[in-house]
Amino acid sequence: MLKLTNTMSGQLEEFHPLDDNHVRMYTCGPTVYNFSHIGNFRTYVYEDLLRRWLKFKGCRLTHVMNITDVDDKTLRDSGATEVGALKEFTLKFTQAFFEDCKTLNIERPDLVVNATDHIPEMVSLIQKLVRSGHAYERDGSYYFKISTFPAYGRLAKLDVAGMKLGASVDVDEYEKENVRDFALWKQRKEGELYWDTALGKGRPGWHIECSAMSMRYLGEHFDIHCGAVDNIFPHHENEIAQSECATGQPFVNVWLHGEHLVVNGEKMAKSKGNFFTLRDLTAQGFSPRAIRYTLAAVPYRKPLNFTFESVHQSHSAIERLEEFLLRVETGHFEPGQNEKIEEKARWARRRFVESMDDDLNTAQALGAVFELVHEANVALAGETLKENNRPTIRGLFADFQNIFAVLKDPASQMLEAEIEQLMAERQAARQSRQFKRSDEIRDQLLARGIVLEDTKDGVRWKRKD
Ligand code: AMP
Ligand code: ZN
Repeated sequence: MLKLTNTMSGQLEEFHPLDDNHVRMYTCGPTVYNFSHIGNFRTYVYEDLLRRWLKFKGCRLTHVMNITDVDDKTLRDSGATEVGALKEFTLKFTQAFFEDCKTLNIERPDLVVNATDHIPEMVSLIQKLVRSGHAYERDGSYYFKISTFPAYGRLAKLDVAGMKLGASVDVDEYEKENVRDFALWKQRKEGELYWDTALGKGRPGWHIECSAMSMRYLGEHFDIHCGAVDNIFPHHENEIAQSECATGQPFVNVWLHGEHLVVNGEKMAKSKGNFFTLRDLTAQGFSPRAIRYTLAAVPYRKPLNFTFESVHQSHSAIERLEEFLLRVETGHFEPGQNEKIEEKARWARRRFVESMDDDLNTAQALGAVFELVHEANVALAGETLKENNRPTIRGLFADFQNIFAVLKDPASQMLEAEIEQLMAERQAARQSRQFKRSDEIRDQLLARGIVLEDTKDGVRWKRKD
């Protein structure tokens, strides 16, 4: 039974999809004015682990991610004065983002949607809020009237009445009725690009974007909305206010927020200059799989301190797993079963599932895998691992790779010399009419992505596509 910590209740809750077995999930995507840094990728990696875990559990998943391709930063850095130029600028960074995701084995969400393609949806949502008295117009801009939504502050646990003006409140916008009210639609500024809509000439605020797009594709009430802790306030608080006031329904069932990637105790952020992009790190020779491992190994609700040393350690951890797997796959073992190892492997597989079910406790899941590796390595050294231990160990590693996706794919891991050696052994087995053994070797190669073909010139091998 999967349990997730819901920011709204502050509790670990059993997760049940609203609609039978279908999970509808929304994740706040990147603001595409530059390359994403690995702090951002910590969030996308945990969301990817969740995505993979839900599918592993047999759920049907509809996962939507937005691309913020219009906001203060994209406008500032593109210098665009018309939509075409803005799109050209943001497309470069959107493409770079998905290239980086691919490098990190982050699966693509089922739907990726751009803010600039959903202006009509945002306009009609704002009109709905105006009609129902939750929003008002001032000098061509539109604001959400916080006093009309008593539940405001519930997600972030804010005391709205006693809320002080601070860094998080934009006090520049003095034309609002109340300084706490936030912008839904910003009137065109001189020289800035705009959309000409029923609300007038202007552009949407950031928060309305996610309300409009999530509800358009997932319905008014859906299962999971994720982000990092800095999204809780004001972004997600505002999304709730806008959406629930527009529909009169609860918006999201489970809110998930990952902790930050920090450097020397400070959040990694572009504005602080303490960041690395994925490209910075791969250019320095760090492997993407070691970076993914580093980001995945600490449970998402715990802060993760980034150091180069931690990536080196991840690299060694992956090597240890790969070496072990190679020995298990290519070793020749006596028939039968080492009971102790079999029990350990079954335990590790159960523990892996229980850990991931426990709010994606990745550290504990990895611990289970390494415990097995430790014991099985001892058995390998003492030549007590048996043939029938192989499938259970393989099963655990298949589950592990399905979710963590940090091991080399088995075909590329297998060296030609090893393949040739196994083929020679198979040939010898066939000649001595040990067909069971020769079939075993063929299956072993197949499990690692190597296909054997009988031709008139003898047996050839190729890597499976
Ligand atoms: P942005 O592209 O700035 O909209 O951020 C994309 C995502 O990365 C958001 O969900 C942010 O909350 C998240 N994020 C930003 N900085 C960090 C960090 N240092 N650690 C983890 N997540 C972060
Ligand atoms: Zn969002």
